[in-house]
Amino acid sequence: MPELPEVETIARALAPGLTGRVVTGIDVPDAKVLAGPATRAAFAAAAVGRMIESVGRRAKLLLIALGPRPHIAGDSPIVLALHLKMTGRFHIAPSADAPPAHARLLVHLGDGNALVFSDMRRFGTARLATPDALAAWKFYASLGPEPWDMTPEAFEAALCRKTTRIKAAILDQTVIAGVGNIYADESFFAARIRPDTPAKDLTPARRRKLLAAIQAVITRAIAAGGSTIRDYRTPDGVEGGFQHQFTVYGKAGEPCPTCGKALISIKVAGRTSTFCPQCQK
Ligand SMILES: [Zn+2]
Repeated sequence: MPELPEVETIARALAPGLTGRVVTGIDVPDAKVLAGPATRAAFAAAAVGRMIESVGRRAKLLLIALGPRPHIAGDSPIVLALHLKMTGRFHIAPSADAPPAHARLLVHLGDGNALVFSDMRRFGTARLATPDALAAWKFYASLGPEPWDMTPEAFEAALCRKTTRIKAAILDQTVIAGVGNIYADESFFAARIRPDTPAKDLTPARRRKLLAAIQAVITRAIAAGGSTIRDYRTPDGVEGGFQHQFTVYGKAGEPCPTCGKALISIKVAGRTSTFCPQCQK
C-alpha cells in the first residue's frame, strides 16, 4: 500500500501539470470509485468548470484543491480527495487516448490532457467535499499529526497511555499519520527498538528517539521517490528508489547491517515485522 512518502512523491510530481488547469470533464469508467457524490453525473457536475489551485497530501490521501466555479456567485471551493489504498496509481495522458484497462476516474484538463486514476484492486476512492465537509469527515478528522508536525511532547502523551505494542501504536493513523509497515520497520531499526515492545514500557528518551527516526526515515524515503515493492509507480511510470536503502524491511534471514546477526521476522499487530534480535531491544 502506498504510504506517506509514495503519496507525497505523487503529489509533487503531479502539481506542475495540474495546477492552474481547469477541469473540463470527468469520466468514471468504474463508479465503485465514487465515495461522494455517488453518481457519475453529480460527481462531474460538482467538479467541471473549476480551476485546480493546488495538489497536496494529508496522511495517505492525495488532495486536489478545486476553486469556486466562476459562473456561480458565492460558489464554495471543493477538494478532490483520492485514497490510493492498495494499488491506486496516477498518470497524465492525452484525453483522446483510450483509458487503460484499470482506469477508474479521468479528470480532463483544459490542455488536452487528462489525469488518470487507475486501480487494479478497486479499493481506491474519490471524494469531492467542501473544505468544511472534508474537515468534518470522520476518517479525516481522526488523523493524527503529520510526522513533522508531531512534537516530542505530543508523541509522548499519545504513547505513554498505550497498552498496545509500539508497532501497533505507530501504525494507528490516529496517533501519527502516514506511517505503514515499511517505514515502521525501518524506523524501529534506526531507533534500535523491538517492534513488539509495549508502547508504555519505552522510556521518554527512547520515544523521542523513535519520533526522530520516523521523521528521518520518511524524509529520506521522499527524497528517494518512495518505495516500490510491487505496484507503486510515480506518475512518470518509474519505480521509487527507497527499496534499495531498506535496512530490515523484507530482509528476514539476511545479516543485520550493523552486527551481522540474522534478521528475524514475527507478526506484530497482524503485520510481518522484521528486526535484529541483537540490536533492537
Ligand atoms: Zn544487529
